[in-house]
Amino acid sequence: MEFEGAPVVLEIFFLPFVGGGHQIPMIDTARVFASHGVKSTIIATPTTASQFQNSILRDQQIGRRISIHALRLPEGAVPPDTDLSARGSTDTSVLQEPLRLFLLDRRPDCIVVDSFHRWAAELIDVLRIRRIDFTGSGIFSRCVMENVKKVPHEKLGSDYEPFLVPGLPDRIKLTRSQLPPFHRGKSGPFNKLGKGEEMSFGSLINSFYDLEPAYVEYFRKEMGKKAWIIGPVSLYNRNVADKAERGQQASIDGQSCLKWLDDKEPDSVLYISFGSSGRFSPQQLIEMAHGLESSNHPFIWVVGKIFTKSEGTREEEENWLPDGFEERIKESKKGLIIRGWAPQLLILEHPAVGAFMTHCGWNSTLEGVSSGVPMITWPVAAEQFSNEKLVTDVLGIGVQVGSVDWISADVEKKALVGREKVEVAVKRLMDGAEAGGMRRRARELAEKAKRAVEEGGSSDKDVNALIEELKSFRKDTLEPAYADHYRNVLGKKAW
Ligand code: UDP
Repeated sequence: MEFEGAPVVLEIFFLPFVGGGHQIPMIDTARVFASHGVKSTIIATPTTASQFQNSILRDQQIGRRISIHALRLPEGAVPPDTDLSARGSTDTSVLQEPLRLFLLDRRPDCIVVDSFHRWAAELIDVLRIRRIDFTGSGIFSRCVMENVKKVPHEKLGSDYEPFLVPGLPDRIKLTRSQLPPFHRGKSGPFNKLGKGEEMSFGSLINSFYDLEPAYVEYFRKEMGKKAWIIGPVSLYNRNVADKAERGQQASIDGQSCLKWLDDKEPDSVLYISFGSSGRFSPQQLIEMAHGLESSNHPFIWVVGKIFTKSEGTREEEENWLPDGFEERIKESKKGLIIRGWAPQLLILEHPAVGAFMTHCGWNSTLEGVSSGVPMITWPVAAEQFSNEKLVTDVLGIGVQVGSVDWISADVEKKALVGREKVEVAVKRLMDGAEAGGMRRRARELAEKAKRAVEEGGSSDKDVNALIEELKSFRKDTLEPAYADHYRNVLGKKAW
């Protein structure tokens, strides 16, 4: 029994999804709440737990109340695809029963759930546990996607005819070719995501107020959403080990990567990465290689998994580089290729890095902003085309490479962006007249991002606001205890 004056320790459960772009920010979020005194429990599978257990151990060693609960899967059950490149369509329903049993045993003050666990909302709501949803995206793209529904798609002449997204604070234009299939009137598993969100207690958003203020207002007032905006959560990774191992152990030693960068001039290196899942065909990568070489700027290029010619399959393929390319860049010290996983935060924060070529995954976008680097935007799928518009048209901190086709996993892969476009975009951002202004704006935003997560900043305030709100529910349920104490211990009469 707790009495007046006793600190209320809240417990929040976190149920991350298995893919990199979703799991990584949710782990950071659990750590943020633990740093604010909350007891954070991350629900994982034995395999996913191994991807982040070191950072949790480090937090425990400095006294944070944070732990991992690995669900015990039924005998013979096949665990979901636990690779960080898992996609949103990965079926995680095998976790249902172990989660239900766990929640029957332990009731948290609330549970934060990734919306890609499509079955989870129903299961949790039946158990009457407060549920907060997490989609992994920012506010701007959610406003865009909401209003794209109002576009009369049948009136568009073609998939490439630009249309104005109605109702937004800025004039944002897209084409149907840049929309996910489920926003073009076709159905898919993503259509079912909305319901869970509608019935939730609110949303946790990895963003910060000053990045998209007009859209935060729009989201709250026009769309009527309850949301706590608590990012950029990547900024809570303050020590080198956390940055180097974020997501998984990097395939290159962090020190040798930093050493390579130390030899370069400030703002001279282009960092190229397309997130946790490979999206490009060997043909596209060849075009990229030629474009990079002719632009003649130093670069670090993270090459993850590559699509092979067989549809929908992803396999590692080593021999796709143009003849002699790797030897030339090694000899001239112009380029560093990382095959596999890069220590992205460490690289982006290095003063030699002057620009980021990105697929505009929301985490990468925010990490680019937080590091103050302008971006070359090369969106591919998900809500990345909206994120591109935020970077280039609203914030003015990037140039578009010219990607116009949303690529789904089952589309035949070819080179959609030619080498000339790559070269032009790199030169525009590294040498062009507009580059200075973009870099200045990017740095201002990075300062604002840092202020947001400091004590008293907008994101810190939102973390505290959620904690206080959850505590207020605790007080209600504790009322009987206080009443007993008042009557029986203090001997007071009360009605
Ligand atoms: N990431 C990383 N090293 C890599 C590739 C990705 O650390 O080699 C991290 C990156 O910093 C980001 C996340 O993985 O936090 C990718 O998320 P994002 O939303 O950018 O893209 P997604 O993988 O979801 O497409």
